Amino acid sequence: MIQSPVEQPTMASNIPFDAENFNQVVMSTYGRFPIALERGLGCRVWDTQGKEYLDFVAGIATCTLGHAHPVMVEAVTRQIQKLHHVSNLYYIPEQGELAKWIVDHSCGDRVFFCNSGAEANEAAIKLARKYGHTVLEIANPIILTAHSSFHGRTLATVTATGQPKYQKHFDPLVPGFHYVPYNDIRAVEAAVTELDEGNYRVAAILIETLQGEGGVKPGELAYFKRLREICNETGILLIFDEVQVGMGRTGKLWGYENLGVEPDIFTSAKGLGGGIPIGAMISKKFCDVFAPGEHASTFGGNPFVCGVALSVCEALEKYNILQNVQEQGSHLREGLKAIARKYPQHIGQVRGWGLINGMELQADIPLTAAEVVQAAMAEGLLLVPAGAKVVRFVPPLIVTETDINQALQSVERVLAKLTA
Ligand SMILES: *Cc1c(COP(=O)(O)O)cnc(C)c1O
Repeated sequence: MIQSPVEQPTMASNIPFDAENFNQVVMSTYGRFPIALERGLGCRVWDTQGKEYLDFVAGIATCTLGHAHPVMVEAVTRQIQKLHHVSNLYYIPEQGELAKWIVDHSCGDRVFFCNSGAEANEAAIKLARKYGHTVLEIANPIILTAHSSFHGRTLATVTATGQPKYQKHFDPLVPGFHYVPYNDIRAVEAAVTELDEGNYRVAAILIETLQGEGGVKPGELAYFKRLREICNETGILLIFDEVQVGMGRTGKLWGYENLGVEPDIFTSAKGLGGGIPIGAMISKKFCDVFAPGEHASTFGGNPFVCGVALSVCEALEKYNILQNVQEQGSHLREGLKAIARKYPQHIGQVRGWGLINGMELQADIPLTAAEVVQAAMAEGLLLVPAGAKVVRFVPPLIVTETDINQALQSVERVLAKLTA
């Protein structure tokens, strides 16, 4: 197991950061916390004032190996010196090697590379539609998705996202989506039957194995088992959005391994390259129906991102990181549960898999996840909300027991303060 480096990097820059200037020129699409981070090492980051934080956000479940990890420094340096970008007009050996690693380590057979989670889901939506038209012979293929899901911010993926707050003012949305409650198999069965009318039929089900943004809600085994059966019986494609939970986050390489069910298509992005921009859509051979020219991405699968992502993948195995995720994940969950028992009026459920965990605040108190996150920041701990009432813990996968203990102490202090 590789340890996170602990020594503090060079001193803070003396250039004061000015949020006002920033906001003059950057679009205000994000509600930002009032700090600016400028350096990181292992599971720690430093802001422009030199204040140290324990990073339990990891770029939202993205920085698999933490910050400035030697494996990434080496891979980035090696690849930029050799070749960073060409075009998919040519064969790219690094792309082939990364695809081989993913195929060897998953139920998938073919990989398409792009740059983000939304783009990976867009590719899956296009593939499912083409499969719907050409194989299932449906004139108007419908894709089922779940309430409180999150699939991205492009027009098709924000339509797939079953949360109206993300869609407001962006209509007309993309046709061909239908929503069902998560973990409710009767609703899926009813939708599949009801939507089978005239030229319309369900072609695919797009779903997260654990809902991340929707409040860290794990999928239920019986539900997913039955989803697989329904898809086998009807020919409907089963697509898993593994953008947040894939690549070891749950203690297994893929989220679906926690459910004992394989998808026909799945997507990955956040943790795949340890923080460099990469996305992937992986399918079984039978539904790989794209032909040359039908889908593309200029940056997708370039030598730089694929070379670096491959090194991240290999590091997961070399340093036995999945075992660390399982061990530290249960340590964190047990610690959070112990805190929850001390504050039953304020904290409800603590849930998650591996190193994606949520601490739910009681519905009948005014305390919000954002307030807890804000207070934790003052204590030197970075956390991220997952909806209004769930505080999410997604540290780098190299997090140590010492880091977890420090985070738990900070959470204790935060709750003591907020409930005083
Ligand atoms: C973050 C996320 C996305 C979107 O990924 P981007 O890289 O931001 O486009 C899609 N699905 C899930 C489950 C996510 O967590």
